[in-house]
Amino acid sequence: MTSADIAKNELGIAFAQHIIGGELTRSSDDRTIDVIAPRDRAVMGTAAQGGAREVDAAVAAARAAFPRWRDTAPRARGRILARIADRLEENAERIARVLSLENGNAIRTQSRGELAFAVDTLRYFGGLAGEVKGEQIPLSVDKLDYSRREPYGVVGAIIPWNAPVQLGTMKIAPAIAAGNTLVLKTAEDAPFAILEIAKICQEFLPAGVLNVVHGLGAITGEALINNPDVDKLSFTGSTAVGTRILTAAASRITPVSLELGGKNPQIVFPDADDEWAVDAAMTGMRFFRQGQSCTAGSRLFVHTSIFDSFMSKFTSRVAALKVGDPMEESSDIGAIVNQKQFDRVRGFIEEGIGVDGGTVLTGGMPPTDGPLSQGYFATPTVFTDIGNDFNINRQEIFGPVVVAIPWETEDEVVAMANDTHYGLSAFVHTRDIGAAIRTAHRIDAGWVQVNHGGGQVLGQSYGGFKASGMGREFSLEGMLEAYTHRKHISINLAI
Ligand code: NAD
Repeated sequence: MTSADIAKNELGIAFAQHIIGGELTRSSDDRTIDVIAPRDRAVMGTAAQGGAREVDAAVAAARAAFPRWRDTAPRARGRILARIADRLEENAERIARVLSLENGNAIRTQSRGELAFAVDTLRYFGGLAGEVKGEQIPLSVDKLDYSRREPYGVVGAIIPWNAPVQLGTMKIAPAIAAGNTLVLKTAEDAPFAILEIAKICQEFLPAGVLNVVHGLGAITGEALINNPDVDKLSFTGSTAVGTRILTAAASRITPVSLELGGKNPQIVFPDADDEWAVDAAMTGMRFFRQGQSCTAGSRLFVHTSIFDSFMSKFTSRVAALKVGDPMEESSDIGAIVNQKQFDRVRGFIEEGIGVDGGTVLTGGMPPTDGPLSQGYFATPTVFTDIGNDFNINRQEIFGPVVVAIPWETEDEVVAMANDTHYGLSAFVHTRDIGAAIRTAHRIDAGWVQVNHGGGQVLGQSYGGFKASGMGREFSLEGMLEAYTHRKHISINLAI
């Protein structure tokens, strides 16, 4: 299908081109991929499908732009990021609508917040550009011994579809603030909103500092991770693909940062049989993002003494969530991103229903008639009577499906929480400060939230333990470790 075949949608987006060396460009073989809107399964546009030729050109453009960008005064780089943030803020509503259309996240509960976070991220790292500094050791009067933080060079960044604006900006801002240039591969299901941000960046950045290539992981992604002129790889996505990226990078000893999947626990203590804990657990489960979050707390451990009472409140709140068109203000929950994920979520719900003795507290299989059957709409589903060792409690579902599991003792629940190869996030709900802190310390996860389920905090390093990743983002330290290397310089001043 060519762009000419596609009816312009309400936002006027039909075709996503690459950005290479400051120019919007098609693929050399004119290949494209369709982008399907999850709300109605209609083609909302096409994106150029990049191959090795486009990736090589983008890497070459980033390489050519690197020396000048590296040598641009750090605070001048920071000021550019601040101007990009201002322009993005003016365009936030328009891009939030693009985002909801392409990935199905509800505009009111998700997409606007994601745009606001991106603006904040650009401002935050813009302010930190001058903090790319080293240390000096006072060895003696005739020695100058110091270290420098230098940018790696060309960063190859790959992002998923579930929060492309937040995660794309989280690669762009720290990488270029630290003086690197970048080739960003977008997710094939959601290339448009982040492309709009990259276009704004082009108004302020020298050509070649930020390049964007669209396409499939197996083609475009592989071309990027195997390009020998990429100095650093930064990936957010599944653990399976993260493993592949680490393997490709190993052959060239290319540094890698990985933000990967999770199967995260929430622990509800006996004193938390209350609406505030229900609120926190619902947010922690990321229901408002259809559960399509790496940090979704999809194993809900509730103390036996309050299990029935807490689950009755939780279940009625979940059942009241409005699933609907992501572009509608009234929708709490939008649509699952694509057919593959929809089938995967359906498969897990089917599996849960089939567990001998398992109970569906609310939800079930997605609607098969009515308006919601036109899109990839799943019904938020709560199971119980399915043990922590069942497949549904071990695999990342990436859908609005949670399993409630009762527990008796702290030791038992901590052991169950940690019984996973993942270690991304966790949630503890209790007013007992001792229990809260003890549990937070004992859980193997990079991020523990107590009595709330909010989002990542700019300034605090974020990332996973175990198979949930390596490296950190969201902070000054994350920027320094992920996007600069240290050089030690030692000078004899006595000569
Ligand atoms: P995915 O791993 O399938 O794809 C992510 C990106 O990698 C896409 O752009 C894809 O095209 C690309 N890709 C796929 N195969 C590739 C290959 N062989 N070489 C190079 N690139 C390749 O993940 P997804 O389905 O898009 O996203 C969901 C996953 O992302 C979940 O596992 C989720 O937990 C994870 N995630 C993690 C975080 C975090 O911060 N830890 C944040 C968001 C999502």
